[in-house]
Amino acid sequence: MAIVTGGASGIGEATCRRLVAEGATVVIADIDGERAASVAAELGRAASAVQFDAADVTSIESLVLCTIERFGHLDVLHNNAALTSPALHAKDTNAIDIGFDTWDLIFAANVRGYLAGCKYALPTMIRQGSGAIVNTASTGAFSGDITRMAYTVSKAAIIGLTRQIATHHGKQGIRCNAVAPGLVMSPGARAAVPDVIQVMQRHLLTPEIGEPDDLAALVCFLASEEARYINGQTYIADGGMLAHNPAMA
Ligand code: NAD
Repeated sequence: MAIVTGGASGIGEATCRRLVAEGATVVIADIDGERAASVAAELGRAASAVQFDAADVTSIESLVLCTIERFGHLDVLHNNAALTSPALHAKDTNAIDIGFDTWDLIFAANVRGYLAGCKYALPTMIRQGSGAIVNTASTGAFSGDITRMAYTVSKAAIIGLTRQIATHHGKQGIRCNAVAPGLVMSPGARAAVPDVIQVMQRHLLTPEIGEPDDLAALVCFLASEEARYINGQTYIADGGMLAHNPAMA
């Protein structure tokens, strides 16, 4: 039984598709309830959709607790939803110009939202003696990003959150790891950074830009028993972008 937030599009959607193909039951949780329902309908009886808002802790509490009540257990939580709208992106500028309302909103969804998912999932996972949490961070957490301020800092916070959950709850059977995508051709990325896609492609150490399923494969591995000796880690999947200095390419 898995909950995937931001499951109606991109990396989250690809993860839902993979989890179902691997035999899991999935709750596709997204602010876009219609799109989540349409993905769930395509995936059949193993999937259902729940509308929620990652910036609203009450809606996260209800998502997690209602799922546990319905299924009786929770094996996997993929905290993946993040605010990616181009309108918000345009306000997420730099330390001088950014409004505190923009900062707070981005942190509410991208950081507090992930914490809330963990907060409400952990008691059940601890009772079970097992549970895997996979958080979606970003390579921006490692390199800085001239185009986005709060988003980049929020993704660095996710790496700290991931270590903290593993540190506090690893002995209770909880594994918490993160994935850090570089550019991945999701609908969100196409809308948010259309102008940098070609530039970035030149600097990859792979022939092609990554697809959402490249990340879904990593998420599903980290969520699986095959990753039972991995905890508190962050895995970069970025086509090698951070492995070299683009200025020397
Ligand atoms: P996407 O836009 O394709 O999908 C994101 C999904 O999250 C959408 O279905 C959207 O409706 C949902 N969502 C947005 N705000 C929400 C909210 N407040 N509550 C609930 N759901 C909400 O994006 P993606 O590229 O697949 O991004 C998934 C994750 O990967 C995000 O955490 C993003 O920061 C991270 N990421 C993506 C890339 C990339 O290049 N695609 C790179 C680095 C990190």
